[in-house]
Amino acid sequence: MPVDLVVKNARLLLKSGLVRGGLGVNGGKICAIATDEHLPDADTVIDAERKVLMPGLIDGHAHLHDPKMLDHEDFTTGSRAAAAGGVTTVIDMPLTSQVDLVKTVEEKIIQGESMSIIDFSFYAGMMNSENVPIVPLMIEKGIAGFKAFTCEPYETNAGVIVRLLSEVSEHGGHITVHSEDQGILDEFGRDLEGEWDAPVSHALSRPNIAESLAVRQAVGIAQQTGGHLHIAHITTREGISEVERGKLRGVTVTTEVCPHHLVFQRDEMNILGPKSKMNPPLRPKVDRAALWSALLRGTIDMAVSDHAPCPIEKKDAGNDDIREAWAGADGIQMILRVLLSEGINKGRLSFSRLLDVTSRRPAKIFGLYPKKGILQVGSDADFVIVDVTKEEKIASDMMFSKCGWTLYEGKKMKGVPIMTFVRGTQVFHEDRTTVKPGHGRFLAMGEGNKPLEV
Ligand SMILES: [Zn+2]
Repeated sequence: MPVDLVVKNARLLLKSGLVRGGLGVNGGKICAIATDEHLPDADTVIDAERKVLMPGLIDGHAHLHDPKMLDHEDFTTGSRAAAAGGVTTVIDMPLTSQVDLVKTVEEKIIQGESMSIIDFSFYAGMMNSENVPIVPLMIEKGIAGFKAFTCEPYETNAGVIVRLLSEVSEHGGHITVHSEDQGILDEFGRDLEGEWDAPVSHALSRPNIAESLAVRQAVGIAQQTGGHLHIAHITTREGISEVERGKLRGVTVTTEVCPHHLVFQRDEMNILGPKSKMNPPLRPKVDRAALWSALLRGTIDMAVSDHAPCPIEKKDAGNDDIREAWAGADGIQMILRVLLSEGINKGRLSFSRLLDVTSRRPAKIFGLYPKKGILQVGSDADFVIVDVTKEEKIASDMMFSKCGWTLYEGKKMKGVPIMTFVRGTQVFHEDRTTVKPGHGRFLAMGEGNKPLEV
């Protein structure tokens, strides 16, 4: 009996490195990994023409679908952008609407399964002193990630972080902390009166020390409570060193980096304008170099998009006063491109780290491994074929996001996702999506209340 699909003549990105061969898919799962002559017969055969075939990306932090902000993005447009970026699983994060009721979780699963073209799960949040008790119930429902802020607009206090970490220490899962110290932001913002017409003032009002203080405090709490602490979007060399020291002391702490912080730097903000406003902000060049180095050596666990675009009017609102602009940029179509172009092709990243930070590690952090995050027999056939040497100029008309603009406009990049497959079904080919909304399936994180493997 022929299997459903065979992709041959590829360079497979396996744990052991790049290997010549191909894979077979049956019933949505990988059924064979072999050299071409040992692959089974198939109904459909694709010749990868020696391109790299790697596990689809798991984007662990993206704001795709907020029921109150569907003019920004939704599961359909956001998952199309994801597929076009080689992302096969997305972990959606709340934007403004709370996700802390069973009813909300059930509604979100229905919305995702009818609209998304890739698989998905999502975070609960924003966490505060009222909703901490939901942790065990949410974990039972498969929602094992909890988002909290140390700063506005969802600022919570150290007591809530202590209680949350104690809960996940007992029940499994993890908390993700947006780490910027509100006291520092208040003080530095005050100094910039009269300078808000310059976009760079946004970054100057949120200095590095705001991040490192908040990270240090959260890591210190985790050391005492136990439980898995995840630091959202790390941006500074000081913040990285706090995470690194925590890891060395045996604290269960992980972190992530976003493509915009790997590409752009603070000095460019006045040229890029309000599109480059996000939190945490763009940082000096030296921090960007530190991020690449930490990604390569393993201090940073995964690459995520923090995709949070908006209608262009909400960016233009900040043309004369950067405080008025929406904070957030597109990114889900760019993560893999950035890692290929600025990482692999510039010698800042190895293929084995590319594999770790895009799929293997996030699959473990979210309790999806080995169903997701690896090319092996029995795992879901989620993969992307990339042309590592193809060059392109990024333009808004190639982007699938609802927003119609991209922070990366005009950037020349090298390394392009060509085809994306979710559970063996092709969802993206070159410049178009190839499946209807509703192909995506909800993924429950973790197994029951067992602590997730980190
Ligand atoms: Zn975010």
